[in-house]
Amino acid sequence: MSRTQNSETLFVRARQIVPGGVNSPVRAFNSVGGTPRFMASGQGPYITDVDGNRYVDLVCSWGPMILGHRHPAVVEAVERAVASGFSYGTATQGEVELAEEIVARVAPVEKVRLVSSGTEATMSAVRLARGFTGRSKVIKFAGCYHGHVDALLAAAGSGVATFGLPDTPGVTGASAADTIVLPYNDLAAVEAAFGAAEIACVITEACPANMGVVPPRDGFNARLRELCTAHGALLIVDEVLTGFRVSAAGWYGLDPVDADLMTFGKVMGGGLPAAAFGGRADVMANLAPEGPVYQAGTLSGNPLACAAGLATLRALDADAYARVDAAALKVGELASEALAKAGVPHRLQRAGSLFSIFFTDAEVTSFDEAKTQNTAAFTAFFHSMLDQGVYLPPSAYEAWFLSSAHDDEAIGRVAEALPAAAEAAAAAL
Ligand SMILES: *Cc1c(COP(=O)(O)O)cnc(C)c1O
Repeated sequence: MSRTQNSETLFVRARQIVPGGVNSPVRAFNSVGGTPRFMASGQGPYITDVDGNRYVDLVCSWGPMILGHRHPAVVEAVERAVASGFSYGTATQGEVELAEEIVARVAPVEKVRLVSSGTEATMSAVRLARGFTGRSKVIKFAGCYHGHVDALLAAAGSGVATFGLPDTPGVTGASAADTIVLPYNDLAAVEAAFGAAEIACVITEACPANMGVVPPRDGFNARLRELCTAHGALLIVDEVLTGFRVSAAGWYGLDPVDADLMTFGKVMGGGLPAAAFGGRADVMANLAPEGPVYQAGTLSGNPLACAAGLATLRALDADAYARVDAAALKVGELASEALAKAGVPHRLQRAGSLFSIFFTDAEVTSFDEAKTQNTAAFTAFFHSMLDQGVYLPPSAYEAWFLSSAHDDEAIGRVAEALPAAAEAAAAAL
């Protein structure tokens, strides 16, 4: 068992002044129980908590740390930026370079606007789609998470599923009324919805990974494109999680469906707050100050965040992607083998380098199916891994994240921990 005294002490202090003791719900370990670990440092594939326990990190800050922690090129870029100044509230060169990098990688993105979080990106993209079309209804899919935007929180996957909240208080009927929530991968439902209402936009995760990994069925995204075009609606593809992770061009590199608008975050900030939305030049032209749809941000395009993001994207060459892919393939395989050996029903679902393990043996194609899994088995599995120095996402509904820094040694540590964790899961069935 690892020592947790310092984390416990901090958690007690935190709970007195911060709701639930955390600044983002899934960090609180509510669904798996136990003391959430307060991290103090990271290096490569490892993170170290305030009690000195070191873990192989399979969360990677929920995606951004695709090069591992403290990658030398990113550290150098941020140190250089720090030495120059933090924020001016003016335009800077780094913003232009980061925007150029995004436009160069993702063909449907002709113009891009930088923001500070994925939530801001999806919120602004939906506003722009409504402003452009003059319509109000938005189609989203159950289990897809687009940040904590009021209109997009209905059936929003992991965070909300983890807490067993059907929806969230504080979102008014009026803001939810324009959201049509449909089952994922169900094209007949999309066609019916288009027949019944005027739609401003469809927003979808490029490949859902916030209810566990649930890949789009072949042709699903392409058919959404056709339906949006036929009905004069915009297609918004949310690549906040997949963008620049599953390939240099994100999910678009694997499944090239031309969205009207796309959203990005996570990897493009390299661990600092940077996100973006972008797409067709004629649609983006409606954004202030060029057009009438207002959107702004005091820290948008922050110099430090742009430096971290740009250095991260520039370090992500073919070799780095190959290492992320290989590490993800290996860890998924090892986990599935260990669970099979212990007789634990599970399903490994992959999409490019994304993967997650559902504690059920049925295929998962939608959020309803994802919710049939045995979360008690996951909880036992999670805590055994944690005690053995492997930090998994503290929820059965999350993808596992690898980085290019996950070398043979780090993966070897995961391999060593898996058999006992699989036995613990079997005992909890
Ligand atoms: C993480 C995520 C968001 C929200 O991004 P934040 O930076 O946490 O606001 C939006 N969409 C998807 C698909 C995500 O994975």
